Amino acid sequence: MSKPCLCRPARTGLRTEVHRRLITVTACRDRATAKTPVTARTGPRFSVLSAAVCALVLILGGAPAAVASPAAQTGAERAETAIDREYQRLGGTDSGLGRPTGAETCGLRDGGCYRNYEHGGIVWSPATGAQPSWGAIREAWATYSFENGPLGYPVASPACSGGTCSQSFQRGTISWRPAEPATVDLDIDNPKNTAVVVNKERPLEPEDYAPEDLLSVDGQLLRAEPAEALILLQQAAAADGVTVRAISGYRPFETQFELYSGYTSQYGQEQADAISARPGYSEHQTGLAVDIAAADGACSLQACFADTPAGAWAAENAHRFGFIVRYPAGASAVTGYAYEPWHLRFVGVDLAFAVHSSGVSTLEEYFHLPAAPGYPAR
Ligand SMILES: [Zn+2]
Repeated sequence: MSKPCLCRPARTGLRTEVHRRLITVTACRDRATAKTPVTARTGPRFSVLSAAVCALVLILGGAPAAVASPAAQTGAERAETAIDREYQRLGGTDSGLGRPTGAETCGLRDGGCYRNYEHGGIVWSPATGAQPSWGAIREAWATYSFENGPLGYPVASPACSGGTCSQSFQRGTISWRPAEPATVDLDIDNPKNTAVVVNKERPLEPEDYAPEDLLSVDGQLLRAEPAEALILLQQAAAADGVTVRAISGYRPFETQFELYSGYTSQYGQEQADAISARPGYSEHQTGLAVDIAAADGACSLQACFADTPAGAWAAENAHRFGFIVRYPAGASAVTGYAYEPWHLRFVGVDLAFAVHSSGVSTLEEYFHLPAAPGYPAR
């Protein structure tokens, strides 16, 4: 049975509605057997070229690698060419970057490379191309662990207007005015963004945030994007003979308040904190999280759900639809929650693939954020 999937967006840059709408189907680069078109909206980053390549792959039924190397260049060679072209575009040795201080270095996250200069650097990745980095914005980026942190790679050159310079990154923006500290807007801080990170150290802001674009799946509310993705996930699972039901989605602040208060009065605060999020701290309040169950309810909301067909299927395939298992086994010291193989969190296909292939299993580790084993003392 072929498996429909959402292709990981291949290249960043243009963010027009046209490009958003281009994402119809795509052969996933890790799944050359995918032949069933799936119409879905994924992240904003996708190019005409990658759409054409994916379409060609579908027509030929072959692996992306067969058509993806027109210049037969390695990633390092592509990077070197792109970095040098960007350096020349900026003025070469006459640019603000100054002279190179070393050779190109590769091996960064997601296949990235960089070259440093006297006054900054140029960093390249397959998804974002070659972008320059310098000055106060670069210093601020560094404090967030460069591309390894929550900002990711820059997606454009710094641009200045009205005395403010800003640079866009994969998941945020840094702005700077002379004589003032840089300001950093992180997608992980914004509950409206699918990359938002909510944990026991990071409550929603505002704490009574409520999403507006809710849709129902199996009687559970989710924001539109994860709702559409969950339906595709369910269809793909069904094609493999596996039923995946949604049993809990969006929970308003007030509902979480009542739930948590009930646990607290029944079991005490320590036990309540172990089994329930405090109001304002629950991923379910973002409308991006869903608890799933098997058709027969076996091992519902228990760790043994991982061994059911639905749990096993989700663990293996959820990332293809933009979900991650948010509270994996053995990570409670990082996430603050015991293993919850039923709790899926929508982060978008791009980020889900990145986390899945990163070698770490939590958003905290992926973004180099502090572990959040418990609530701060009040
Ligand atoms: Zn949950």
